[in-house]
Order: sequence, then structure tokens, then C-alpha cells
Amino acid sequence: MNDVYLDHAATTPCDPRVLEAMRPFFFAQSGNASSPHKRGRQARRALEEARETLAAFIGALPTEIVFTSGASESNNHAIFSTAKALKGRGKHIVTAAIEHHSVLEPLHQLEQDGFQVAFIKPKSDGIIAYEDIKAALRPDTILVCLAHANNEIGTIQPVEEVGILCRERGIYFLVDATQTVGHIPVNVKNISCDFLSLSAHKFYGPQGVGALYIRQGIECPAFILGGDQERGRRAGTHNITGIVGLGKAIKFCNEQMLKDAPREIILRDRVIDFVLNEIPLAVINGHRQKRLPNNAHFSFPGINGEDLVSALDLAGIAVSMGSACTWGRLEPSHVLKAMDLTDRMALGSLRVTVGRCTTEQDITYFLEQLKLKVSQLCKNE
Ligand code: PMP
Repeated sequence: MNDVYLDHAATTPCDPRVLEAMRPFFFAQSGNASSPHKRGRQARRALEEARETLAAFIGALPTEIVFTSGASESNNHAIFSTAKALKGRGKHIVTAAIEHHSVLEPLHQLEQDGFQVAFIKPKSDGIIAYEDIKAALRPDTILVCLAHANNEIGTIQPVEEVGILCRERGIYFLVDATQTVGHIPVNVKNISCDFLSLSAHKFYGPQGVGALYIRQGIECPAFILGGDQERGRRAGTHNITGIVGLGKAIKFCNEQMLKDAPREIILRDRVIDFVLNEIPLAVINGHRQKRLPNNAHFSFPGINGEDLVSALDLAGIAVSMGSACTWGRLEPSHVLKAMDLTDRMALGSLRVTVGRCTTEQDITYFLEQLKLKVSQLCKNE
């Protein structure tokens, strides 16, 4: 049975070297980083080493990193903490209509509490225009939230320009970099952000651990109370195994990113060229160049994307329609709708995301099967 994994945007397999680094912290070196004894001190050292590795990788100070359970938690904290800290200054927030639900849903909740949120629509290529963000800002805007790259269509947004604008106006800027950290360069200084979210399982680390960068000096109240961990901002015993894994995964990305990206671009472009040339009516979604090295996203009009994903699954291929988080909702993706795709186009979508271990043979098999399944599903129409 074939087992071709082309859903790296949903999650990446844990690098075996990462798992090896984590292993002792489950057993002989297991300890609570807040304990004063040797085991505790070992755990604390490992924790701070991971923090330093991550901080250096994204151009931050170690004291600006808070470990979390993942990017959903990081996004929630950044949004709710800002609202709490700055509500006296203003209650207006600007974001993109295509953000991840872990940004959109906290913002919808804030709307219930009297905040006003501007949801900026992308251009037809999935790019959020700098001018549209600028035009939406008001004197009472306290926060702008923009993902570095979209998790469905892989489009890379102009975060550097938006960051400068926000800094000039004293507006906090949250960048959800979940899809970019470990894949393309991410530096908090270049982006001029105040918060940055990331998640280890998107860069060959373990699931359930991530981080929130919080720029030194900004107002950000504690988000989980009940302990001194993470400088009092997030209480709770540290997930040492996960944090060690995150640190190791980042270390390997440091070495590997420059090798991975050009390889992935070749594989990705092979998929894109084949689909556009060989599958009638298929279209690519998102900007052709300003996209993640590993992301290809299509619409096949007239085909139900869930049927296509299931047919490929039966052939041993893992792909998705878009976000894993919205699977089963049977609604067209909010990202594709915001780009003004018709329901027919949005429901016929397919996201293919290659990764570090994807081979040319995987792609050959996938493309063969894709062509076959699309033509079979067309006949069933
Ligand atoms: N933001 C983006 C852009 C994502 O792709 C994801 C994961 N799909 C998240 C946030 C949530 O990440 P996590 O799984 O770590 O909560």
C-alpha cells in the first residue's frame, strides 16, 4: 500500500533526531523545571537552551519568548491580552478576512464585547493589500492581526510594510507565523511585530507545543494565572519534552531550511505545471510567486473536493481541501469565499503541501492518481 504524505501544512512528521533529543526528558532526566534539585535544574537548563535557540532563530531576546501549547493558544493570548490592556485607548482592530480561525474567533468574541473589527478582503490572488490595511486604520485602532502566510493557499503577505506602518502609529501588530517559521526566513525585527505566533508541529517538531513572541516593553497582562512560570505570564508546569523538541526542531531548520526550500519549490512547481497543463479547467489559487515553497492549491470546478480527497486517500495519498481544522463542515472555505471564488470553485479545492521527505517518486505517483481520480469524478457528475 502506498503511503504518500502531501499534507505538511496540516502537520509535519516529527524529525527522528528531535524525538531522540526529547526521549531522556521522559525518563532519566525527567524533572520539573521549577524544582530546585538536580533533575529540576537539568530541566530548567534544557528549557532555557530551547528558549535561546528559538529567540536567536527569530531575532528576539530569550525574555521575549513565552512557551505555549501551540499557535491557537498564542493567537488567543495575544488578542485577548491586547484587548484587556488597551481597551481604554481604543476598541478597534484590523485583520484579514482570511486569517486562521484561532484569530477570527477571538475577534468575533471581542465584537460581542463592544469592539469593532475590520476584516480586510484579499485581492483575487490572495494578497492583502498594504493600502487596504492602511485605509482601515483609525485613531482608536489598537491592534492589527495578519498571518505571515495563509495556511490554505500559502500566499505570503506584506508583513514588513504593515509592521512599519503599525510601529509608526503605535498600533500593536500580531503576526501569525505558524506556516512560515522553519520554512522561510522569519525575523521579528524585520517584521516590526509586537507578537508572533508559531507552532512546533509545523516544522518537524512535536504537536502540542508552540510559542508566542512578545516584544519587550509592550503591555501584555498574564494569560494563565496560578504560577510563576514564563515570567508569570503563563502559569503551569512546563511541557519540557515538547519544548526540548521545539528547540531541536528549530536548530535543524536553521541548518536545513536553505536546502529544503529549493527542493520543495521544484516539487511544488512540478505539481503546479502538471495540473495546469494536464487537467482541464483546473486553476491555481493564490499568488503564483508570493507563496510558500511547499504549497500548491487548486480548484477543480464541478468536482467535490471532499470526494477527491477521499479517493486519493484510498489510493494511499494524504492531501486536503485546505485547513484541517474546517474538514467536515461542508461549507466552502472562508479563505476562498473572501477571494470571491464561487461555491462551485471553492468546494472543488485541493491543497497539496510537500515536505522535507517528499520524493520525486511520490510526486509521480500522486500526479498519476490525481489525473485518474479527477477524470473518474468528472464522469460521475
Ligand atoms: N495559525 C495558522 C496559520 C495555522 O496554520 C495553524 C494550524 N493549522 C494554527 C494557527 C493553529 O496552530 P496549532 O495547531 O498549533 O494550534
